[in-house]
Amino acid sequence: MPQKLAKIGPALSGEHAEAPSIAALRRQAEGCERCDLYKNATQLVFSEGPADARVVLVGEQPGDREDLAGRPFVGPAGRILNECLHEAGIDRSSCYLTNAVKHFKFEQRGKRRMHSRPNAGEIQRCAWWLGAELDHLHPDLVVALGATALMALLGRSVAVTKNRGDLIATPGGYPVLVTIHPSYLLRIRDREDAAVERGRFVNDLAKIATHLR
Ligand code: SF4
Repeated sequence: MPQKLAKIGPALSGEHAEAPSIAALRRQAEGCERCDLYKNATQLVFSEGPADARVVLVGEQPGDREDLAGRPFVGPAGRILNECLHEAGIDRSSCYLTNAVKHFKFEQRGKRRMHSRPNAGEIQRCAWWLGAELDHLHPDLVVALGATALMALLGRSVAVTKNRGDLIATPGGYPVLVTIHPSYLLRIRDREDAAVERGRFVNDLAKIATHLR
């Protein structure tokens, strides 16, 4: 049974963008200036996947590769996500993939663009789009990949470390499954630790199939 929460995050509460379709939402978002992140990013990275997907995966923000390609989860973290979804028996192409924040936030260090975590204000403003996507999709399950997605969906009352693997009930009727962002696995230096954490991530993702049955 999913747990219930007293408060939820901005993507599941308040007002969101309105448009007749996901494609129309994306076109609207291409002109978004709700925060400053559009100024330095190459382009908007909105989402990928079918509009009738039963499962929505929400990440943090596009990374360097995603910013250049204009597609979510096409960099190193996306590769791990693909592998782990496959091992968990989930077809990525059947899922809708999106991010809590739609423009790449980074710090320029020499020629490199270093990932910079979105702040609470940026998450709040971009929830205008994530909330609208969920309004259209009405999925059976939303997967929060990491702390930024969790904050957008469920606010500050849920933490990845404490609630990992939990299903949290929402007013939208679909639960949110709490897990890590796959980029976390890339930062673990010890090979054994990395293998253990990867296994835990696959186990978390396997709950998608269990829930859909
Ligand atoms: S990050 Fe989100 S809120 Fe900020 S400009 Fe981009 S689309 Fe708009």
